[in-house]
Amino acid sequence: MKTLQDFNFKDKKALIRVDFNVPLDENFNVTDATRIEAAKPTIDKILAAGGSVILMSHLGRPKGKEDKYSLKHIVKKASEILGVEVKFAEDCKGEVAKNAAAALKAGEVLLLENLRFYKEEEAGDVDFAKELASLGDIYVNDAFGTAHRAHASTTIIAQFFPNDKCFGTLLATEIESLNKVLKDSEKPVTAVLGGSKVSSKITVIENILDKVDHMIIGGGMTFTFVKAQGGKIGDSICEDDKQDLALEILRLAKEKNVQIHIPVDVVAANAFSNDAETQIVDVDKIPDGSQGLDAGPKSLENFKKVILESKTILWNGPLGVFEMENFANGTIELGNFIAEATEKGAFSLVGGGDSVSAVKQFGLEDKMSYVSTGGGAMLEMLEGRTLPGIAAILD
Ligand code: AMP
Repeated sequence: MKTLQDFNFKDKKALIRVDFNVPLDENFNVTDATRIEAAKPTIDKILAAGGSVILMSHLGRPKGKEDKYSLKHIVKKASEILGVEVKFAEDCKGEVAKNAAAALKAGEVLLLENLRFYKEEEAGDVDFAKELASLGDIYVNDAFGTAHRAHASTTIIAQFFPNDKCFGTLLATEIESLNKVLKDSEKPVTAVLGGSKVSSKITVIENILDKVDHMIIGGGMTFTFVKAQGGKIGDSICEDDKQDLALEILRLAKEKNVQIHIPVDVVAANAFSNDAETQIVDVDKIPDGSQGLDAGPKSLENFKKVILESKTILWNGPLGVFEMENFANGTIELGNFIAEATEKGAFSLVGGGDSVSAVKQFGLEDKMSYVSTGGGAMLEMLEGRTLPGIAAILD
């Protein structure tokens, strides 16, 4: 796996695919700069080695050139974070980009305009990729968030750098962290899978059954499993057509010696609302008119035991409707258990969309070993798929 260490960047122009797809407010201020901060180590290293940096990214989903999606809005913030004045090219191709790249000196940083102003980017157009490639000497992919897309700047471009391509620090760390869970993990390994639907997590569940000792299943998925086993789930969310699949997962888990832990009690509400009346009930005796929206105290006690005995923990998906204060307790407590286990030496990886926002919202980010930056990309890796952006560098 080639990384920055394998290259001498002195007087070279590094063409880096970063993920600067950051949220902006109505005045175009960056409201969360995590992704820019995440790219800083790679940029710093190349600049310190005497190279210059050309940054490529997308922002939002523009239909053609739309000012509100211009990357010019983030130049100020990026300059602040990187500690250098970031230059901006008002186009990512053509004369504008070429001249700006050619004028770049060692120690300087150039940001290209939004790649998705051209439909060729997402189409994975080879000529477009070739034109981008002509701007730099070494291609560095540091955008985990788009590594599962075979776009021009994330994948296709790599073929124009047969020997001069590598992973940036962020992407390399993402891959290493995942390998610590899926490949060289210290046992016992526990995966916590929450979220709303079995159908969106099924491939992940199937793939990781081979790699874990314990699997905690929570969130809305719980009820498909409970109903499939004959429980009474009231009005809880359920995918009726996935009940056979749930039973099959339980059977497979037994065969593979994986212990499955499902909530035994839940916080049941008389409406899908933070103001609903609630009661704690057994997970298989939920009255009609009630729905389970969070894990109950006995369940959390069970989960705590499993988590604190684990040496490797993967967490994807909330245990309840954490967006509503009254149903956030399970997710917060789970985060606390994982934080405690991590402090005692376990390796913990949080990845995939909602659990990352939960961890951030509840201030647990620094207590996890690693919090992934890529939602969809992380899920696809957990599904056992090879991401095109990663494969293109390894080729
Ligand atoms: P996912 O995108 O599949 O990870 O699902 C995340 C969503 O699942 C969050 O928005 C949660 O509010 C939701 N969720 C978690 N537990 C439940 C539940 N018991 N009933 C309904 N939705 C839930």
